[in-house]
Amino acid sequence: MILISGCLLGINCRYNGGNNLKPELLKLMKEGRAIPICPEQLGGAPTPRVPCEIVGGNGLEVLKGRAKVINNLGEDTTELFIRGAREVLKIAWASGAHEAILKERSPSCGVKEAYDGSFSGKIVCGIGVTAAILKNSGIELWTEKKHPYC
Ligand code: SF4
Repeated sequence: MILISGCLLGINCRYNGGNNLKPELLKLMKEGRAIPICPEQLGGAPTPRVPCEIVGGNGLEVLKGRAKVINNLGEDTTELFIRGAREVLKIAWASGAHEAILKERSPSCGVKEAYDGSFSGKIVCGIGVTAAILKNSGIELWTEKKHPYC
C-alpha cells in the first residue's frame, strides 16, 4: 500500500481549499493500491486555513523540538503539525504501507524542498514534519515530481 498526499489525489485539502490533482496517482487509488492522507487536516486544521512554514530548521528538527511551524499570522502551529504526522504514521502502520508519495514544498509533506520560513516564496532544501516522521520509520519517500508510477 502507498500513502499519497490527499491533495495530489484531487481532494480539496490544500490550505486555500484547492488541490494538486495528478491523474496518474489517482489511478493508483482507484486500483486500491493507495491511501489518501492529509496530515494538516488529521492534525485538526480547518480547510481553508492560514498557510504555515517551518522556521529555524526542517521537519526532522521540528520532531526534536529544535524548530517550529509558524503560520503567517505569527502563531505557533507546531503541535498540530506533529499531531498530524503521528496520525499519518498510525495509518502507515495499520495499512502496512512501505512507501509514500508526498507533495513537495509543503511544511508537512515536502520531501526535499521547503519554503524558508520567511513567507517570501524562497525555496530551500528541507523536509516537512510528516515526511520526516515517515522517513524516521523507514518508509520510502517519493514526490509528485519523481516517483516510480508514471
Ligand atoms: S498537508 Fe499534505 S496532503 Fe494536506 S494539503 Fe498539504 S500537501 Fe496536501
